[in-house]
Parts: sequence; structure tokens; C-alpha cells
Amino acid sequence: MSRLILPPLGAHVSVAGGVAAAPDRGRRIGADVIQIFSKPQTRWMGKALEEADAAAFRDASARTGIRTVAIHCAYLINLGSSKEAVRTRSLYALEDEAARAAMLGVPYLVLHPGSCGEDPEEEGIARIASALRSFGRFPEGVTLLLENTAGQGNSLGRTMEQIRRLVDAAGGPPDVAVCLDSAHLFEAGYDIGSGAGWDGLLAEMETYAVLTLVRMWHLNDSKTERGSRVDRHFHIGRGKIGLDAFRRILTHEAFRGLPMVLETPKDGADDFEMDIGNLATLRGLLPRRGKEE
Ligand SMILES: [Zn+2]
Ligand SMILES: [Zn+2]
Repeated sequence: MSRLILPPLGAHVSVAGGVAAAPDRGRRIGADVIQIFSKPQTRWMGKALEEADAAAFRDASARTGIRTVAIHCAYLINLGSSKEAVRTRSLYALEDEAARAAMLGVPYLVLHPGSCGEDPEEEGIARIASALRSFGRFPEGVTLLLENTAGQGNSLGRTMEQIRRLVDAAGGPPDVAVCLDSAHLFEAGYDIGSGAGWDGLLAEMETYAVLTLVRMWHLNDSKTERGSRVDRHFHIGRGKIGLDAFRRILTHEAFRGLPMVLETPKDGADDFEMDIGNLATLRGLLPRRGKEE
């Protein structure tokens, strides 16, 4: 049997004080990897990223050994909007995020695919796909990860089938893959807390050829019930999902070595205790490492 390759673990951390402050926050919580927003996440466009700040960020990463695996795109971006003006702004904002990722040397850009609002799902999928086609190629070394959603507010990417349809409609670009969020899966209705539910999800992922597209996980427990379609992240093991789901994700061979980050609640930019506790809970679910020198 091949040796289990453990996933690099970490959390989403604040960029308060500038992007270069993020890797040190990762070090404070004992992370291997971190995810960041590249700018205030409630704004369409941030202040331009200066090369000096990008260089300071790369230095901080090298010094701390913390890899920033992903930039989470601003929540305002909605490539599925029925309003053309919103789609246009969203495309510009996505371009800005991609440029920042390239400057910072961050390989993944995580995006919520978008919401179709009151329109039929097909229209939303067609609009998102057409936006991705018009975007063209991402910068060298940057891959867009479509994140599965809880389905709140008719957000698309709620099921493996929707993710497949989005990717296919976009023409299956080589620089587009998938990030899975455990809370969103559960809130969208997947019973990942039970063995049968987990097997069902894996079967669906194979049917829709999503399994091989997964590049990253967001590990969050859910404050809301399964199928609620209400997105509320909570501390690992203290929500409704149950620890078994996290053990399955952490140790499944299809996800071996993939970066996994927490997006669980904190009390502020420099609240480290919560992340430290949640990471300890996750590490406690990993098989003990053999002492091989
Ligand atoms: Zn997200
Ligand atoms: Zn997430």
C-alpha cells in the first residue's frame, strides 16, 4: 500500500496592514498554507498592487515557509448576473484578481461561479460560461477554481452536475478547476457526515468527472442543517456535519496532498486562537505518522 500523503493544512487569514502581513499570520497559527483576499473583499476594485508590496509578500512567504495557495475573489463578482453592467464589472474585477495572483505568485484563484437570480438555471450557466470564454486564458501559473456553493440565493455550482455543466459550457479550459467547501456541500444537501452520503458524493463526482478537477478544499463545519441552502460556517466538530466527514476528506486518496484551509469564524484579524484550535482538531483526525527517518 502506498504511503498516505498528508494534506497541507491552514486557514484563510487577514491581509489587514497589507498582503505582506498574511504569511506571518499563517506562521502564528502553525499553518502550512494560507488563503487570502487580495484586497478588501467588499470592494469592486482595490488600490493597485505595487510591485514593492508584492515583493514584500514573496519575501515574507520565503521567510516563513508559508505558502499562499489561493486568493479568494471578492464576493461582489457575479458572472451569472442578468444585468450586463454587473457582468462587465465582474469581468474587470476578475481580471484584476488574476493579475494580483500572478504578481504575488499565488497559483489558485477561488471564485463563486455566480447566481442566476430569478432566471432559469440554464441562463445563469450560459452567462457564466460565456464570461469565462470571453476572459480567455488566465496568467501563466494561475488556475481559476470554481467553488461549490450552498445554493443560497440561487447561486450556481450547488451540485456536481451544475459544476460539470459550467465547465463544459465554458469549453473545458485547462486553467479552470474546482475547490470544494465541506460546509457548502452539506448545506446544499450532501450528507457527507454519513458513510453512505459520502460514497454517494464520490459516485456523483465520478459520474460528472469532477473528482479529477478538485485542487483544493475549504474545511468548514456548518451552523445550519443539511440541505438548508444557508451558508454559515462554524468551528470543526461543533457544527452539524460531524467529525467523520473531515476524517474522510483528510484521508481520501483522491485528495492526497491537496491544500485544505479553514474559513471558520474568528473574532478579528489577529484572533489566532480559533484557527489554532480548529487546526488541532483536524490534525487529531489524521493517522499517526510512522517514525521513519
Ligand atoms: Zn468561498
Ligand atoms: Zn469556501
